[in-house]
Amino acid sequence: MPTPLSKTIEKFPRVRLGHSPTPLDAAPRLGASLGIELWIKRDDCTGLAMGGNKVRQIEFPLGEARSQGADTLLITSAVQSNYVRVAAAAGRKLGMEVHVQLEERVPGVDALYRASGNVLLDRLFGAKLHTFPVGEDEPAADASLDLLAQSLADEGRRPYVIHLAPAHPPLGALGYVIAAEDVLTQARDLDLEFDAVVCPTGSALTHAGLLVGLRALGKEVPVYGVCVRRDAGSQVERVRKVAAELAAMIERPEAFNGDDIQAFDGVLAPGYGRLNDAVREAIAMAARQEGLILDPVYTGKTMAGLIDHVCSGVIAEGSRVLFIHTGGLPALFAYGDRIGNWLSEVPWGQGEDR
Ligand SMILES: *Cc1c(COP(=O)(O)O)cnc(C)c1O
Repeated sequence: MPTPLSKTIEKFPRVRLGHSPTPLDAAPRLGASLGIELWIKRDDCTGLAMGGNKVRQIEFPLGEARSQGADTLLITSAVQSNYVRVAAAAGRKLGMEVHVQLEERVPGVDALYRASGNVLLDRLFGAKLHTFPVGEDEPAADASLDLLAQSLADEGRRPYVIHLAPAHPPLGALGYVIAAEDVLTQARDLDLEFDAVVCPTGSALTHAGLLVGLRALGKEVPVYGVCVRRDAGSQVERVRKVAAELAAMIERPEAFNGDDIQAFDGVLAPGYGRLNDAVREAIAMAARQEGLILDPVYTGKTMAGLIDHVCSGVIAEGSRVLFIHTGGLPALFAYGDRIGNWLSEVPWGQGEDR
């Protein structure tokens, strides 16, 4: 008998921060308009500082930070990063000083993007903001953060760095192994069997965590990752690396098969953090049919990917589909002008039906 998953995960230090389990909600009107039975895992409701998937993810790095006696937390990501906002809140909650490095990943942004949404919250939490003008270079961003950590250590602080590139153990993915267990328990209680799971895939901690978690728990349901950051080829490699490492960490190497990764980049253009019509329409549909808020960078794209998969038949009509709502709501306000301009141009009824 293998060790139960919960026992294996217990070996990793963890700081509990999130509300759990998050709700599993039916979305009957949006589902009906797409010809599927749609359910939403409400990880936008993880609680801390406006929630989202990063609350599940940060519990493990923070557990390690605490076990090392760290007093200063460092993190690097995009300007409107939800991870940075959650790290700032969580670090403060644990009495730590927080340094964040904001990377210029999105071209042509406006003043609102730099000041509102997550940036406003980072400042509210009293995080020290540093800039990183290079957009797409994760190893360089990590190296720059390590330098900052070194200078803080020289001043007598005890820094802990949350790295971005996959050169470090994917501790955050453990949070999504737990989420997989959470979903299966809720599905069992409701007597539900899902035909497909759809989630965003960026750093791949969510995607890999769900995939390995579901397989380790004996579920073969397809997990469709919708690319929010890089093309499908690179993303599959990213998920493969994270998932293999994660499966080894939880002592379930057999729970991962390298051919079992689905990543779709058909709604990614024009790139990370940038809107397109399919995304805007998905955001409007969820809002107008379910009163559900999606964000422009991640969940809006993911819903657009789900809609695409239903239209193209990858997800068959009548399927029971689970959408993982990973949060990201503060970013909506940072994109407020662009979304607002679009809303003034579209007919009132758009998004209500297809
Ligand atoms: C970070 C983020 C994602 C991407 O998740 P990864 O685990 O990095 O792949 C998706 N949705 C939201 C709202 C996020 O903040």
